[in-house]
Amino acid sequence: MRYDLHTHSLFSDGSHSIWEMVRAAEAAGLETLAITDHIEADRWGKPTDGWVDAALREAESVRSQTRLRLLIGGEGSLLDAKGRTPISPELYRKLDLVLCGLEWSTHGIAINPPEDKVKLQRLLVTAYGNLALNPWVDICAHPFNLGRFSNPLSLSDLAPSAVREIAAAFREGGKVFELNNTFWWWFPNHSPMQVLRDYARVVEEFAVAGVLFSLGSDAHSLHGVGNLKWAMMLANQVGLTERCFVTPEFLRQKRLQRMLGR
Ligand SMILES: [Zn+2]
Repeated sequence: MRYDLHTHSLFSDGSHSIWEMVRAAEAAGLETLAITDHIEADRWGKPTDGWVDAALREAESVRSQTRLRLLIGGEGSLLDAKGRTPISPELYRKLDLVLCGLEWSTHGIAINPPEDKVKLQRLLVTAYGNLALNPWVDICAHPFNLGRFSNPLSLSDLAPSAVREIAAAFREGGKVFELNNTFWWWFPNHSPMQVLRDYARVVEEFAVAGVLFSLGSDAHSLHGVGNLKWAMMLANQVGLTERCFVTPEFLRQKRLQRMLGR
């Protein structure tokens, strides 16, 4: 796939401008790049989306200087197990793409998780199930990034039945599963190759359920744009083929359907 659908710029915690990220994407031979800066909820519950209008204006001028397809998206945090995110329908309409996943701020999972791992896992099924029903999310970012929170779950802790339940919910809600190139970072006690083997078993359940996948580097600087090597190794391990992945055009069509309420 000649795209990278998850990167960050100066508009949130990235180190380079949209223009520099686009140049790096051209150098990496990509056809499509999505800039997906963070949108969280501030302490009053308002989305931290003050950057969106400026990013859209900047993208407008960058687009006139490149043949690459540039998308301005956002990476929203999952706020709680109810599946709430800071992305309103209006914000969803403004953006080209919305990713959403567990973050440090997710209540009940990252913050104040239950001590019991079985309970935590049930909560995870509820959270992802509700996220799958949230219409204002296109892609679930780095699913199961559980290894660095205060009650860390390792991938081998996950019961196959729980994984299958979440996979069925993703399929039902039309959510795309992101193969995130730095997913391994979330598991500091395991080598990237060990994480790959454990994660492959999880990813396989989603493939079997008919869930589609996307690829993202999660690059926070121009140096990482288009680096999808680990994610591709994972895809190969699972045996994913090209038809298991979404295309930017497919995502655009899906979004139009969502916005028309179909
Ligand atoms: Zn990110």
